[in-house]
Amino acid sequence: MTESRLTCRECVEFLMEYLDDTLAGQVRVTFERHLSACPNCVRYLESYKTTTTICKKAFEVRDGESVPPVPEELIQAILAARLKAE
Ligand SMILES: [Zn+2]
Repeated sequence: MTESRLTCRECVEFLMEYLDDTLAGQVRVTFERHLSACPNCVRYLESYKTTTTICKKAFEVRDGESVPPVPEELIQAILAARLKAE
């Protein structure tokens, strides 16, 4: 098995995509093969998952919810107010 082996460093880079379930098939297989042989990366994966879970709970962010972008009108209003103040 010399084809497409991952280093731990590469593994970490794929971690977020793996958790998001957006990793391409072949990469995912290689990733999981590395995990099955590398306790270090398994530990990293577990601590990463725990951390994101704690963060989500702390900020009460639900899936699919994000901070809304600042509306353009608000930016314009702030800019206009600053111009008036000068
Ligand atoms: Zn590793």
